Amino acid sequence: MIQRTPARIEARNEAPSSNVASQRDQAGSSIQSWQQILADSVTSPEQLLTRLGLPFEPWLKGANAGHRLFSVRVPEPFLRRMQHGNANDPLLRQVLPLADEALHQPGYVRDPLAENTAIQTTGLIRKYQSRALLMVTGQCAINCRYCFRRHFPYDSQRLGPEDRRQVLASLNASPDVNEVILSGGDPLAVNDRLLAQWARALAEVPHIKRLRIHSRLPVVIPQRVCDALLQWLEATPIQKILVVHVNHPAELDTATRQAFARLKQAGVTLLNQSVILKGVNDCADTLATLSEELFDAGVMPYYLHAFDPVAGAHHFDVCDQTAARLVQDLMQRLPGFLVPKLVRELPGEASKTPVDINYQPAETASY
Ligand code: SF4
Repeated sequence: MIQRTPARIEARNEAPSSNVASQRDQAGSSIQSWQQILADSVTSPEQLLTRLGLPFEPWLKGANAGHRLFSVRVPEPFLRRMQHGNANDPLLRQVLPLADEALHQPGYVRDPLAENTAIQTTGLIRKYQSRALLMVTGQCAINCRYCFRRHFPYDSQRLGPEDRRQVLASLNASPDVNEVILSGGDPLAVNDRLLAQWARALAEVPHIKRLRIHSRLPVVIPQRVCDALLQWLEATPIQKILVVHVNHPAELDTATRQAFARLKQAGVTLLNQSVILKGVNDCADTLATLSEELFDAGVMPYYLHAFDPVAGAHHFDVCDQTAARLVQDLMQRLPGFLVPKLVRELPGEASKTPVDINYQPAETASY
């Protein structure tokens, strides 16, 4: 079973102001810290099914088979947005393991983007000319069944103090890099003291102009957008971009929207990337609503990723023809700035590759 680093270990060096199990809001009510919420996540198929009022038969056997390959992790705020008793809930489908995950399917591989070949030094991946990807942790707040990094060897990329020096030396010696992307896992699963250190060190590299963070945490645990996070973001003098990951409009609630608003106030540009997933968001109504609601919440739709053929997740795959028709439909319904770019990442390419949306004329669409 793939078990990523336990949440308690990643969060234990939190800055003093937020290293508490609970805090008080302005009205004096007790609110849980994000670390406590992360530590209390649902981590077994039995728990997940029970919490949603779903019967063990027929779900548990298959869920356990998938769980042995890639463990279940669902935080409470995300769980609460699912519909009780609905096995087809689009949020549940993203996190419920299925027996299909154990089936071998030709063409679906452990490293679909060949990232192993792009590792420059421990924790640092160079795929694109002007950008470098820094894997600050293998920990996530949620384990998404379709994740293209579900087999990634995070343990071999764990950053120790000497590795951090190497990363900074490598970046200092790479004047062509003007943007560093904090990735993982989920970089915001790391404590704010360490993230603030990274931000300071990266901002001191003269040619780095932008710090980009790819994170699902503000969506799945909005409490992650805490004072300590906002303080170091505000103090970072280079441009900050946070790319969140929302696949379905039901993932957005009041707390998520408030978290986005706080990030914007801290000077962070907010973008969204989604993955097109069968049974979750392969529907033009859903995607159009998602774009509208993201924009209302201050987040620009950025990428709609074609499915990466990762082993164990073939049942989420949506063919390019269907994806192209969906985007054609979105173009008819939405202003251009609300239509995310349909792209695929191909191993060895210097950028994301646009998927040809003229694959089939819109008038013949039949999905
Ligand atoms: S949060 Fe992102 S990195 Fe983590 S499992 Fe989900 S898709 Fe993968």
